[in-house]
Amino acid sequence: IPGQKVVLITGCSSGIGLRMAVMLAKDEQKRYHVIATMRDLKRKDKLVEAAGDAYGKTLSLAVLDVCNDESVKQCFDGIKDRHVDVLINNAGIGLVGPIESIPIEEMKKVFETNFFGVIRMIKEVMPDMKKRKGGHIIVVSSVMGLQGVVFNDVYAASKFAMEGFCESLAVQLLKFNVTLSLIEPGPVRTEFETKMIEEVKQKECPGADPDTVHYFKNVYLPSSIDIFETLGQTPDDIARVSSHAKVIEASRPRFRNLTNPLYTPIVALKYADETGGLSVHAFYHMLFNLGPLMHISMTVMKYLTCGCLRSRTTTSYLGLKTASKR
Ligand code: NAD
Repeated sequence: IPGQKVVLITGCSSGIGLRMAVMLAKDEQKRYHVIATMRDLKRKDKLVEAAGDAYGKTLSLAVLDVCNDESVKQCFDGIKDRHVDVLINNAGIGLVGPIESIPIEEMKKVFETNFFGVIRMIKEVMPDMKKRKGGHIIVVSSVMGLQGVVFNDVYAASKFAMEGFCESLAVQLLKFNVTLSLIEPGPVRTEFETKMIEEVKQKECPGADPDTVHYFKNVYLPSSIDIFETLGQTPDDIARVSSHAKVIEASRPRFRNLTNPLYTPIVALKYADETGGLSVHAFYHMLFNLGPLMHISMTVMKYLTCGCLRSRTTTSYLGLKTASKR
């Protein structure tokens, strides 16, 4: 349909990608045609169900594995004139645990997906966007792309790599009127997270010493679960921020977009002390000295915040609804 923006999203079979695809495809003004991609179309059911009437109209499906040159090329060749207005790089994988117990090959897989996967996509759309002097590239990074987190060493590194790449490229792209935006969610409650936690509990962590394994399983993991339960956002929250006026619809989209305001002080802390000591010691103290206390304060916070978080979510949702009716 003329005037409709073509939006291609990676990793749409679950989580944030699925919700982004659905939210954009269900836009009341039908401003978008969403090409929701995934590695394996056998996993399309949840998306198709959530998309409802939009499926086949403003939402279509395509196969795409960000780690595979041929798959990426084939997907673009299947798009009319290879025209994509908005590329949303969402596909990504996590990795936690003591590095002694993680084979290098597994670490490389994280970089293959989270870093080279995104670059492969950008290289594919960039020439056309430059030629057309327009386009928007969105990358789902993470708060961990700005601040490292214990036992998430390699995952954080892959997101840091992405941040550096985007900071560099954004300047050149601006010359061609192509915009680049990063979305930096804090913890998001996706299925993936619960599955990961269950897996970690079973993990033997071969190669790591007993103390490290103890810190990982009995200190880090419980506090991580607390944080997810207390501060965790939903995939819909992330989709809302991304499709919100600040990112896709903005005439001048912001470059960085932290989705969870509670994380702003953590990032500020990092830049407040150029020696970096403040962050390292604050995180050390939080994990090893305040761990048990944090459990209590998180529980208190959960009760205190759940009411106001709920109302905030509702208002921003209503805000979006009214905005889109105008
Ligand atoms: P998720 O596991 O539900 O979604 C990731 C999707 O990417 C899955 O559908 C998966 O199949 C897909 N994927 C993995 N490898 C792929 C490949 N090679 N090609 C194509 N697709 C592939 O988890 P999510 O939380 O929705 O994650 C989405 C993005 O958000 C990721 O980039 C993740 O790093 C980022 N993120 C997540 C959180 C969180 O707490 N869940 C926080 C910050 C950032």
